[in-house]
Amino acid sequence: MQRRIQGFNAKDSDYPIHHRNLYEVHQRVASSYRDGRLLLAGDAAHINNPLGGMGMNFGLHDAFNLADKMGKIWFDNGSHDLLDLYDRQRRTVAQEFLQRQTIENKKNIEQKDPAAREAFYDELRAIVADPAKLRPYLVRVAMIEGIRRSNSIV
Ligand SMILES: Cc1cc2nc3c(=O)[nH]c(=O)nc-3n(C[C@H](O)[C@H](O)[C@H](O)COP(=O)(O)OP(=O)(O)OC[C@H]3O[C@@H](n4cnc5c(N)ncnc54)[C@H](O)[C@@H]3O)c2cc1C
Repeated sequence: MQRRIQGFNAKDSDYPIHHRNLYEVHQRVASSYRDGRLLLAGDAAHINNPLGGMGMNFGLHDAFNLADKMGKIWFDNGSHDLLDLYDRQRRTVAQEFLQRQTIENKKNIEQKDPAAREAFYDELRAIVADPAKLRPYLVRVAMIEGIRRSNSIV
């Protein structure tokens, strides 16, 4: 840790290191979010690299979706098929959005070729400069597109 921090911002004395935490990076989505009365949500259902800060937020979206359906079953005598709908909606977007976006984030951050990095920054600058591109981009990375897509699945 000391070597890494010094490599980033060298100084004469050691940095105090009070805490360190190692974690393994996975990119996985469970093959099903429902087995009878057993339901998966959050990291138990999907896990990804933390670049972009999406995992917890995506888990909260699972919880909103599932709580709404459980409420309909509990209070309004809704069909248990709603739990299969939860699986279809949230598992589909975990594949289409969460996995895709976090894999893309990791590739962009790991990019070592200066020309490729510059091309990526140029792409971002072009998005920022064009409101027609900026809005859909923000809707996608703010995970709003994922919620809309999830709700569109029947
Ligand atoms: C370095 C890092 C940075 C991150 N940054 C972000 C970020 O900026 N934004 C973001 O959205 N997400 C981020 N995440 C992801 C986020 O931390 C997770 O997506 C989120 O914590 C998952 O919450 P969860 O409740 O689904 O699972 P967990 O937080 O894993 O909670 C599961 C809990 O269940 C407990 N448990 C396990 N087994 C049992 C058992 N048998 N009995 C009882 N209890 C049990 C565990 O101890 C744990 O407390 C980051 C992750 C990492 C590693």
